[in-house]
Amino acid sequence: MGDDGTTLVVDPGVTAAEVAGLGAAVARRGWRPVAVWSTHAHWDHVLDGHGVRGLPRWRAGGPAADDDAGWARSRSDERDDDVALAAVLAAHPQDAPADVVPVRPEPYPHAAGTDRLDWRGPEVAVVAHAAHAPDHGALVVVRTGVLLCGDMLSDREVPLLDDTAADPVGDYRAGLDALAGAVERFDVSVVVPGHGSPGDRDELDRRLDADRAYLDALADGRSDDPRLADPWVADAHAVQLAALRR
Ligand SMILES: [Zn+2]
Repeated sequence: MGDDGTTLVVDPGVTAAEVAGLGAAVARRGWRPVAVWSTHAHWDHVLDGHGVRGLPRWRAGGPAADDDAGWARSRSDERDDDVALAAVLAAHPQDAPADVVPVRPEPYPHAAGTDRLDWRGPEVAVVAHAAHAPDHGALVVVRTGVLLCGDMLSDREVPLLDDTAADPVGDYRAGLDALAGAVERFDVSVVVPGHGSPGDRDELDRRLDADRAYLDALADGRSDDPRLADPWVADAHAVQLAALRR
């Protein structure tokens, strides 16, 4: 957010109530959202709802190959098949899943040859990579040293690889290297992941180490990462291990 309240909303919510609650919180503070950033195109990062509806949608990456209608439909199908979301909704029956934004986010506005958002808000650098998903775009708010890293550097989830990539582990290592480079370059002091808790610089460095260790252990076929205590994460780990052995 800028001094005049100009605001970029990043990866808003999962359920309809969460998206609306975020929109209401932004409005209550008098902030003025001018766009929504999606760190990547998984369904839980491209949601719409009260308070953000109709805003421009931005992402890292190049022009889209598929049409908007097909894109939105496949994300909605992903959402409807998500067992973790089904569990959340079963526990909160009054809530509903948020809608997927009907139009695919566009490549972000930027001056040619730069990785900076071209907008009225504070200076924001985009760290694009292809680790967890194609065209994953993390953001660094330069003045405050805050890294918004989407589905990377979580204290709850081990690295979740892009199973559509030719070299998922290599891509993930390169993604971590890109983030580590940005952390050094911008002297990042706070990390905010899409899933899990924010952390300070020590915690950020610890997560980089933990994620690299997980990838090393994955290559060996075993891991004692404490994040695997979560059954959902353990299941995802087992799928990744099986895919790498094929
Ligand atoms: Zn994701």
